[in-house]
Amino acid sequence: MLDLAIIGAGPAGISAAYEAKKAGLDYLVIEKGLIGNTIYGYPVGLTVFSTTNELEFNKGELKPAREKPTREELLSYYVRFVLDNELNVQTEELVTGVEKSGEHFVITSDKGKYETRSVLFAIGSMDYPRKLNVPGEDLPKVHDHFRETYPWVKKRALIVGGGNSAGEAALFLAEEGADTTLAIFRGDWENNDPKQGCIKYWVKQPLEEELKKHCLKLFFLGKVLEIKDDSVELEDEDGQSCTLPNDVVFVLIGADADLTPIAHHVGGEAAEEGQLQRYE
Ligand SMILES: Cc1cc2nc3c(=O)[nH]c(=O)nc-3n(C[C@H](O)[C@H](O)[C@H](O)COP(=O)(O)OP(=O)(O)OC[C@H]3O[C@@H](n4cnc5c(N)ncnc54)[C@H](O)[C@@H]3O)c2cc1C
Repeated sequence: MLDLAIIGAGPAGISAAYEAKKAGLDYLVIEKGLIGNTIYGYPVGLTVFSTTNELEFNKGELKPAREKPTREELLSYYVRFVLDNELNVQTEELVTGVEKSGEHFVITSDKGKYETRSVLFAIGSMDYPRKLNVPGEDLPKVHDHFRETYPWVKKRALIVGGGNSAGEAALFLAEEGADTTLAIFRGDWENNDPKQGCIKYWVKQPLEEELKKHCLKLFFLGKVLEIKDDSVELEDEDGQSCTLPNDVVFVLIGADADLTPIAHHVGGEAAEEGQLQRYE
């Protein structure tokens, strides 16, 4: 019987494990992917926007070469933190259900079952990338994740989205020689309020430079109509249809958490009793 089962080994799950260990609890972290799986999924070479004090568990531990760490430096820090502190993390194990059984919980994963007195859902909110729900979205050239630029050099790339992930992908692609179009709602492009998840200014400024150099095109979007093998049908903000010749599409319009283990197996009762915490 565990004192605490932590689902997810992102920054929240790792810091919970560290505190649980310090408190002498019998705990286990179950992670469906790798340590820091969401960070592992960032674009290769990305410089994150947070400063070290916002990312490190103990002051002065994270020492990037420049002011802010890259994906690789951050990932390396989190992995070393887990290893050096001998945190009890099991990777590549998917939690499929959590059921209440009397005073405790039974956790079911694709590798086994665990009994625990309490559960911490530190599952983030990246499980289900949002879809456009248009014809052709299932074509192999359509991606819901941007990983790296080099396969797309000299290709006609369309990025659909209005947040930082879309902005960063457009910047990587435009800078590295893809024929890049960012399809974005005008309101998102003109939004400069960081609280509303706008494109950060240090991404937007270089994007504007790429526009001036004609390495990037903006398309003020009404809606995406259809994705075809070698083109995309779009409607602009004035309702005019337009066909863009195209080789690859990145749909970067956000993601949602997978709440099925919480919703289906625990329900509201345990949450009301305060035995279940949800961290996003
Ligand atoms: C490109 C990009 C850049 C970003 N840059 C920054 C930044 O500079 N600063 C910043 O503060 N934030 C940034 N973010 C957001 C940041 O990544 C998240 O806020 C952070 O990862 C949240 O931490 P977390 O531990 O709550 O969740 P996550 O890091 O998402 O961790 C949740 C973990 O739970 C696991 N999991 C989920 N479901 C299950 C299950 N059923 N069974 C087992 N394991 C499961 C997942 O695999 C994952 O590893 C960025 C995000 C992206 C996409």
